[in-house]
This record gives sequence, structure tokens and C-alpha cells, in this order.
Amino acid sequence: MSGERLLTRNFDRPDSHTLRAYRETGGYTAWAKAQEMTPEAIIEEVKRSNLRGLGGAGFPTGVKWSFVPRDHPGPIYLVVNADEGEPGTFKDRYLLERDPHAVIEGMLIAARAIRASTGFVYIRGEYVEPWRRFQAAVAEASAAGLLGRGFEVIVHRGAGAYICGEETGLISSLEGKKGWPKLKPPFPAVRGAFGMPTVVNNVETLCHVPHIINRGGAWFAALGTRTQGGTRIYSVSGRVRRPGIYEAPVSITLRQLIYDLAGGVTGNGRLKAVVPGGASAPILRADEIDVTMDVDGLKAAGSMAGSAGVIVMDETVSIPEALMVVARFYAHESCGQCTPCRETTGWVYKIVRRIVEGRGRKEDLDTILDVARRGAGTTICAFFDGAVGPYISYIEKFRDEFEALIPR
Ligand code: SF4
Repeated sequence: MSGERLLTRNFDRPDSHTLRAYRETGGYTAWAKAQEMTPEAIIEEVKRSNLRGLGGAGFPTGVKWSFVPRDHPGPIYLVVNADEGEPGTFKDRYLLERDPHAVIEGMLIAARAIRASTGFVYIRGEYVEPWRRFQAAVAEASAAGLLGRGFEVIVHRGAGAYICGEETGLISSLEGKKGWPKLKPPFPAVRGAFGMPTVVNNVETLCHVPHIINRGGAWFAALGTRTQGGTRIYSVSGRVRRPGIYEAPVSITLRQLIYDLAGGVTGNGRLKAVVPGGASAPILRADEIDVTMDVDGLKAAGSMAGSAGVIVMDETVSIPEALMVVARFYAHESCGQCTPCRETTGWVYKIVRRIVEGRGRKEDLDTILDVARRGAGTTICAFFDGAVGPYISYIEKFRDEFEALIPR
């Protein structure tokens, strides 16, 4: 089950990154259509589509656009979050590299909907080729008169901090400050980049917009589940026969994704666990994979769709070691503003590491659960809650494995 490819439809074409190739497959026809629509009509169509943010948070895109004040006298900004940093996720890089004009067309339509005059594209610093390709596409679109007539695009390269993928952290970094998240409210739609109303959308989210305008919100909604429309790109890694990216409707199940698309489990061939939505998503056991991969399906299963980075572990994988790697990542990437996040992420890494090294204490697991639960929901941004999900779920679901490593 993979269905029609929307986001990846051009990926196999030679020169898919060029304006000529993009136009050959109907590129920029949605933009032509959108120019005949009012901003309100565009927003209504996107609301109807049930498109939800595909960067991680899963917020309804049309609703987000509707929060921008209509009567704002100054500039309004569109910011594209291309700072793909969630471990296990590698799909936006392909969109930037292989179909950059789809991003630009999505930006043009979004900018019309929210009345933005400038679009900033914040690209992860390590993404060199995607950046080059995207820059070239912006130059092509400008030369063709698609950009520069009421809407310009500025490409900004990040410097490799995970927290700059959090929208307020990204905005701070874009403004030339430390990439520190800010408390919300005010939300960026009201007060964002440079103090102006700003919509932050993920690359993949924007690539869907031309399809919605061309074929209608109802068509897009029907591709997915009741509360989320369309397809998305799943980055599948770990112990599978065919790791890679797969586009599929959000109604696909995790089991179909692993066995039908990614070819099944390697290692000893028996599935132990899966992280379904990037490292921040709570882990699922092998008996929990008959779940649809949409935002609400995975939420109901106690995890999250996140960035759709699917990490597969077979029975030979050590869950304590996997948690140690995840914990090290969060300890390294915490921006340090909030005490619970700054301190707990470091403590948890040290504790899990000593358990893995055979120096754990019998109270360690309950200590981790306690500090994780106390800190959840108390911090400026969702980073810490993203760390708490793995801490709690790995230990609760695989406690025996941790206990087996702790000397009696
Ligand atoms: Fe920084 Fe962590 Fe606080 Fe987010 S939760 S602002 S990453 S310290």
C-alpha cells in the first residue's frame, strides 16, 4: 500500500530540481490558480484538506494561517523550517534537493494566504547540497519573475543546533540571536520574526499546498484519516531490509510500513520495538504496530507521529543502550534555559550510562521516572517533553532489560 505519490512524484525524473522539469509536470499551475483566489479562500481550502504540520507538532495548517491578523499594518513573514534535526528523520533534505520548486510554489501560495511579503528559509547548516539546490531554484524562480514581485525569498543557513528546529528558537536564531526558544504566548502568528506576525511551516507541509489548490481540499482530505488528510514521507531506518524514504497515505499502519514497504525486519528477523515519529516519540512494542500513522492514531497508541522518522529495532537491539544514545542526544542539545531540562537531561544520560556499564543502582529507574514526570510540562518549550517521552516509555515497556543490567 503506497497509493499515489504527491511529494515524491518528481524524485526519479532527471533534473527534477530545475524549473523546466518542474513545469513539465504541472509545476506552478497551482500558483496561477491561487492568484485568482482570495487569501481567505486559500485558507478555507487548506482547512478543508485537513493538512497538518509535518515537521513534528501536527498542528492544522489552515488554522495556523488563519491566526495571522488581517489588519496588521507592517510586514508579515513566512518562515520555512528546513532545519531538519530530529534523529531518524531525513525527508526534507530530499524535497529541497530533488523538488525545490515545489517548496517555492508552496511558499508563494502560503504567502498569498497570509499576506506575507518575505519568506525566510532556514536550512540546517549540514545540508550543503539541499542548500545549493534550493538557492539555485530561488535564482531560477526570480529570473522567471515568479519571485521578486511582491514576495521575496531569503535563504538562511543554520549552524547545527537541534533546538533551532523549534519554531521560536528558529526565529531567535534567524534574528541573529542565540537560538533560544521563547515562552508562548505570544505565538509567532501574532508576534514572531522581528516582532512581526510570522507563520512557520515545515518544508514537507508546504510541498503539499500546490496539490491541495490544484485538486481541492476535499480530495486531499479523503486520502487520509478523518482528522488528517493526504500522504507524508516516512523516513525508515534501523533494522529493516530496505531503509529509506517512503511516501504513503497517513492512514497506512506501522506494520504495513515496516513489512510491506521497508521489506521487513533484519537482525534476527524478529521485531522488538519501533520508534514511530523521530527520537522524541515514545517507543512502541512489537505488539503495538497495528496502528495508523496519522497524528491522532499514534497519539491514541500513546506515542506521536512527530516527524515520521521510523526507527526499527529487532530483538538483538539493547533497549538500555538505545535509551543511552537518545539521552546523550538530549543532554547535548538542551539549550539550558530551563532548570528541569538542563539538569535532568544530563542526569538521565549519566544514570542510563552507568546502568549500561553495569554500575547501576537499584533506585536508578525510579529516580529517572520521578525526575522525568516532575519536569514534564514545566519548561519553556516542548524539547523537554520530547525527552521525557523516551525516558518513560523505554523504561516502562522494557524495565526487565534495564533491571537485568543492575547488580543485585
Ligand atoms: Fe531550552 Fe530545554 Fe527549556 Fe526548551 S525546555 S527552552 S531546550 S532548556
